[in-house]
Amino acid sequence: MLSYRHAFHAGNFADVLKHLIQVEILQYLQQKEKPFVYIDTHSGAGLYSLQSAQAEKNAEFETGIGRLQDCDWPELQDYLQAVADSRPAHDQSGLTSDQLYPGSPRLGQLFLREQDRAQLFELHPQDFRLLDELMATDRRIRVEQGDGFKGLIAALPPRERRGFVLMDPPYEIKSDYELVVETLAKAHRRFATGTYALWYPVVERSRINKLEQQLKATGIARIQLFELGLSADTDGRGMTSSGMIVINPPWTLKAKMQNLLPRLSQLLAGEQGVWRCEELAGE
Ligand code: SAM
Repeated sequence: MLSYRHAFHAGNFADVLKHLIQVEILQYLQQKEKPFVYIDTHSGAGLYSLQSAQAEKNAEFETGIGRLQDCDWPELQDYLQAVADSRPAHDQSGLTSDQLYPGSPRLGQLFLREQDRAQLFELHPQDFRLLDELMATDRRIRVEQGDGFKGLIAALPPRERRGFVLMDPPYEIKSDYELVVETLAKAHRRFATGTYALWYPVVERSRINKLEQQLKATGIARIQLFELGLSADTDGRGMTSSGMIVINPPWTLKAKMQNLLPRLSQLLAGEQGVWRCEELAGE
């Protein structure tokens, strides 16, 4: 039973970190003319209204994108511009750009050139339908209703031999913490030069410690970790931080995040804000 709907969380602090890094990687891939593929294993609906009942329920976007709208930091401009550009040309909702927030597939689409393509997986029937409609006229993009873990393996290696995989499961099923590592290891064996970004929530720190150990044990090289949180770890329920683990990151990413994360955590959460920027595996 799938109960997770990303509409409740769109634009929150976790989306900010995830999408900021996603934009960095996509821009890096654009630096060469050669085509690339963007694969999104857990896509969601692709575009969200920040005025929907779901988004307004806990108003999570207020401590995420809501805090950044007027921010003029140069390091955030590419991400903020992509968020602003995310409204589709044919959008008839009447919502303005600052009332909409893009999902990862929409951000991916914004960075595709004529020679690039994307493969998007989504399991939930309703979100799949919304995503399929959003991408319907774009012949560079294939949307599949199916399991993104299995779909990823079947899609590798890509014919372009250049690509970026975003893996963003909801972790509703606790075995996902193991499955992400198994799937990344399998994917990396098929396509070792690809860039992979895995999102994770910090709800119980012990699960993340284990995930990090398991990833290190795969022997995969070049792994970096970036984490951002609204408060320190607790024993209570709920997500306090979230992170992105990036395999084969752009060489510029770590220095940029090292500089940005302390300030970003402060901007989103004041003195309570926390962050990490680490290398899990070197060259
Ligand atoms: N990546 C999206 C973004 O950043 O905008 C958000 C994705 S949301 C965290 C996770 C999505 O994965 C949900 O829409 C859920 O329905 C979907 N999902 C859950 N299990 C899946 C699976 N095995 N394969 C593909 N999609 C799945």
